[in-house]
Amino acid sequence: MRAAVLHGIHDLRVEELAAPEPDPRQVLLRIRRAGICGSDIHYFEDGRVGSFVVTAPFILGHEVTGEVAAMGEGVDGLCLGQRVVVNPARQCGQCDYCRSGRGNLCRRVRMLGSASTKPPTNGGFCQYLAIGAEQCFPIGPEIDDETAAMMEPFAVALHAAHRAGSLAGKRVLVTGGGPIGLLAIIVARTYGAATVALSDPVENRRAMAAKVGADAVLDPTAAGFSDEVARLTGDGFDVMFEASGSPPAVRQAFEVIRRGGTLVQIGSIAQPEIALPVNQLMVREIQFVGSFRYGNVFEEGVRLLAAGRVDLRPLVSDVFPLAQAPQALVVACQRDRVVKVQIDLN
Ligand SMILES: [Zn+2]
Ligand SMILES: [Zn+2]
Repeated sequence: MRAAVLHGIHDLRVEELAAPEPDPRQVLLRIRRAGICGSDIHYFEDGRVGSFVVTAPFILGHEVTGEVAAMGEGVDGLCLGQRVVVNPARQCGQCDYCRSGRGNLCRRVRMLGSASTKPPTNGGFCQYLAIGAEQCFPIGPEIDDETAAMMEPFAVALHAAHRAGSLAGKRVLVTGGGPIGLLAIIVARTYGAATVALSDPVENRRAMAAKVGADAVLDPTAAGFSDEVARLTGDGFDVMFEASGSPPAVRQAFEVIRRGGTLVQIGSIAQPEIALPVNQLMVREIQFVGSFRYGNVFEEGVRLLAAGRVDLRPLVSDVFPLAQAPQALVVACQRDRVVKVQIDLN
């Protein structure tokens, strides 16, 4: 099979490899489409994502959709040719977190296309992938490949919404208009927020946010920013999704969130520590919560997509064939211009 293998910084090669065989309770997927994520970009540009350093060549990619091409022993509920979306995080199912319904915090999680393990775990920028049957969620023909390959980042936004609690009637601000921020806007609208605003210093991203349904777009560096927040909300936003990972955005959140508001941190911040006005957490009872990957939101996500409640296709800005995966990564690095770049394997 053909696969896009990362050898080092800016060194992605499309190579011929042996196709994997499915183990018991695994299926072999023929990958149909795959999205390029921020973490793929970090591995390609920097050779690392946080503390996960590329020490051996591996196949990138974890935002995949495909069809079942073969099945290992003991697979129930899937059949040959079934199209599926994939939860790329394999949870152990046994640890205290898995058993208490918080599998995204699993002690022994294994992530597709990741250097978090040694050796690294191969991902899905390839023609065939062997993966646990329990990580596959069937989809019907009403969900196209383009949309299906968006399921993983959509799951990140859905999980963040659950971390915030009910959004019905709330005034919501999303900071950072990358793919996750845009998906947070879509989810907040779908789950009944009264007002959804985006703040981002990059004009292209503000325009994109307006296109996917933000009621207001703000430039956090503009002189009139605070006045605009007051005009939209009175005394601040009820819920904020911090999806930029930018320290000034996290700091500014404490100025624009109202008393008793909830701030959900989704973006990852490059520095290990930043200064924050922590007393405000106390005197204004701000709830500052983290959101990591996704809990059990894939079935919910598939239902929303199948019902046509959300349209994720406007986020897909560029598509390349597998043979051009290196060019696709280069284009994906132009973060101010592109939104989601995908690789088409059909
Ligand atoms: Zn991703
Ligand atoms: Zn576990």
